[in-house]
Amino acid sequence: QAKVAGKNCFRFYSRAMNQAVERRVHLEQELRGAWDRGELSLVYQPVFRLVDGAMIGAEALLRWRHPELGFVAPSVFIDVAEQSGLIEVLGPQVLHAACSDAVAWQKVRKDPEPLFVAVNVSPRQLRNGDLPNVVSACLRDTGLAADLLHLELTETAVIGDELHASALLSELRGMGVRVWLDDFGTGFSGLSHLRRVPVDGVKIDRSFVADVLRDPDDLALTTAIIAMAHSLGILVVAEGVEKEGQYAILRERGCDFAQGYWLGHPVTVDEFLQLRR
Ligand code: C2E
Ligand code: MG
Ligand code: MG
Ligand code: MG
Repeated sequence: QAKVAGKNCFRFYSRAMNQAVERRVHLEQELRGAWDRGELSLVYQPVFRLVDGAMIGAEALLRWRHPELGFVAPSVFIDVAEQSGLIEVLGPQVLHAACSDAVAWQKVRKDPEPLFVAVNVSPRQLRNGDLPNVVSACLRDTGLAADLLHLELTETAVIGDELHASALLSELRGMGVRVWLDDFGTGFSGLSHLRRVPVDGVKIDRSFVADVLRDPDDLALTTAIIAMAHSLGILVVAEGVEKEGQYAILRERGCDFAQGYWLGHPVTVDEFLQLRR
């Protein structure tokens, strides 16, 4: 009896596993032509300076709307792109589009200070040594000032190969581009890394920001990250600010910049051209 049930279980699990594999393969096939079919687009989430509330830039976030599958979450398709190597084609396309959108903002919007665009760069894009070439080609083709391009790298992209990463980041910063460490605090080695990896700033992961009002540990950690970053001459962005209280406490603790639903959702480039704060 048990044997039979076991067999059925096995068949059930292996079928579920096959379906998961098939789904990934299918997503990868569909993602391959998605850019050319116009299914991929960028949305922009504004970033604000806490001392005066000014909008200072925006983060580019990729969206995929497939005709049959609908919206596919970035956490899913970015992972597929990363695993399959497709990100090495998609990444430069995203970078180029974001730089050219940022040039349009400077022309159309009337901001007192030019707004930066922050672009997410995946571990694979960093490991493939072509990034400095891709970045300089984007800046040259679009005419965007280098200091208005911010690259966001996750801790995991940098960990393990600090020497290579440091050389690459120094080269990028030498071009005038800014570099941010994304999802900061989620990797365990966080704080000690900052001495070895040259970055302009860190983005405190939204899992810490989520609980700063309720959990004294998360507030203590956030406060410590801000103090330590500042002592190293590094700026701090808080992500995932969903409540006024979070904004207030981050501002009180000396955090430099913030983004989140309470401040502004990601919007299309056309909406962003009109966006007022
Ligand atoms: P991320 O770079 O940490 O981006 C922040 C994510 O938090 C975005 O999710 C954004 O929509 C979401 N978010 C912003 N404010 C709030 C808030 O107040 N509350 C909550 N709960 N969420 C908020 P999204 O767009 O789904 O992107 C997820 C991740 O996918 C990004 O995390 C990034 O790692 C990756 N990603 C997105 N676009 C790109 C891209 O063009 N290239 C690469 N390599 N990765 C990308
Ligand atoms: Mg990011
Ligand atoms: Mg993040
Ligand atoms: Mg907590």
